[in-house]
Amino acid sequence: MAYDKSIAAFEEAYKVIPGGVDSPVRAFNGVEGTPPFIQKGEGGYLFDIDGNRYIDFVQSWGPLIFGHADADIQNAVMEAVKNGLSFGAPTLVETELATEITTLFDTIDKVRFVSSGTEAVMSAIRLARGFTGRDNILKFTGCYHGHSDSLLVQAGSGLATFGAPSSPGVPADLTKHTLLATYNDIEEVKQCFADAKGDIACVIIEPIAGNMGLVPATEDFLQELRAICDAHGTLLIFDEVMSGFRASLKGAQGITTVKPDMVTLGKVIGAGMPVGAFGARAEIMAHLSPEGPVYQAGTLSGNPVAMAAGLASLKKLKANPSIYVELGNKAKRLMDGFQKAANAAEIPMVTDVRGSMFGFFFSEIPVRNFTDAQQNDTSMFAKFHKGMLDRGVYLACSSFEAGFISTATTNEMIDEAIKAAYETLKELTA
Ligand SMILES: *Cc1c(COP(=O)(O)O)cnc(C)c1O
Repeated sequence: MAYDKSIAAFEEAYKVIPGGVDSPVRAFNGVEGTPPFIQKGEGGYLFDIDGNRYIDFVQSWGPLIFGHADADIQNAVMEAVKNGLSFGAPTLVETELATEITTLFDTIDKVRFVSSGTEAVMSAIRLARGFTGRDNILKFTGCYHGHSDSLLVQAGSGLATFGAPSSPGVPADLTKHTLLATYNDIEEVKQCFADAKGDIACVIIEPIAGNMGLVPATEDFLQELRAICDAHGTLLIFDEVMSGFRASLKGAQGITTVKPDMVTLGKVIGAGMPVGAFGARAEIMAHLSPEGPVYQAGTLSGNPVAMAAGLASLKKLKANPSIYVELGNKAKRLMDGFQKAANAAEIPMVTDVRGSMFGFFFSEIPVRNFTDAQQNDTSMFAKFHKGMLDRGVYLACSSFEAGFISTATTNEMIDEAIKAAYETLKELTA
C-alpha cells in the first residue's frame, strides 16, 4: 500500500499541531509507519486520502457501534442541524435521551449530559466527593478514566501508595488523594481501605477494562469490591464510557450482578458526536447543581445535534437487542481466527471477548491486570500492526487498546482479517 499523501499530510500537521494529532494515541508512536489520514468511512470500512481501504476494527475507538455513516443516525443529525446547532437552553431531546437511559439502567434515576468521557468522570468524582464529604478516591492501575488531573496517576505504583502524577503539569497536591490498587486484586483494595482508615469517597473502576487491552474484572472481585464499599460508605463508580452499550446493551451491568452507585457513559452514547454522561440514584444526583451545591456546567452540554445522534443510536440498539449476540459471535470468530493463526506460527497469544469488544495480547501468560499486560510483546505487536495495515486491516495502534466490532462488520471482513493475520504472522516468523 502507498501512504504518500498521508505521510505528507502528517508532516504538514506536525508544523501546526503538537505531534500532528489532537489525541496522542493517534500518532502511531507504539507501532511502525505514520497514521493514515482518513477521507471517509462507509459501514465497516475506512478510506484514507491515498485511496486505501481498510476493514475498521477501531470504530473511532468505540462510539460507532453501527459502523461509519449509518443512514439512520445521519438523518437524525441532519434533521437536528436544520433547527440550529446549539441554544444553551433546554430542549426536548435531552429529556428523551435521559429517559431512555434511566429506563435502561436501574442504577440511574437521573443523568447529566456533558461533552466527553473525561468530563463525565471528572464530574462524577466531584459529585462523589461532594456527596460523601471525603477527598480520597481509589482507582486501579491500567484503568483509564480520561485526562483530568486527579485521575492522571502513575500506573504501576505499588500497593496502597498515594499516587504520583503521571504527567508534568499535574500538581502532586492534586493526586495525593488518588489511591491506587492492582486490578482484580482485592487484598490490595483492603490494604488501601485500611491505610486510609476507610476515608475514601469512591472507588472508580472500568468493570470491563478496555484501556490496558481488554481485561475484564472477575465477578468475585466486583462482588468483594461492592461489599467493601458498602462497609465504608464509599461510592462505587462503574466507568462504562467504553463498555456501555458495547459489552451488552447495559454494558458491564448486563453481565455482572454487581450494582454500582454511579455510572459514567460516553463513546457509543454519542454515536460519534461528543457526548458523555454520568448518572446515579436520585439521592446522589440531588447534590448536583442547581438542585444541590456540587457545581458542574457546560455551554455545549446536551447539545441538540449530539443528543439527536445519541438518541437515534440508542433507539436502534433497543429495537434490535439481538445484535449483541451477533456482534459477540463475530468478535469470537475474529479472536478464534487470530488465535489459530498465532498457534500456527507458534507465537504465544491470549485473547478475550466481551460483547462487541475484543482484545488480544502477544503473551504467554493470561492477563488479569496491568502488570501482566505490560509483559506483552509490544515489538511483535508493532510488526503485526504494520503487516495488518498493509493488508487493509485497521487495528488499534497500541497493544493496550481494545478492538471493536460494528453491525456493519461482516463475517467476510472478519475472514479477510484472519487471512491477513495468518499471512502477517507467517511473514514475521519466516
Ligand atoms: C475513552 C474513555 C474515557 C475518556 O473519554 P473521552 O471522551 O476520551 O474524554 C474515560 N473512561 C473510559 C473507560 C474510556 O474508555
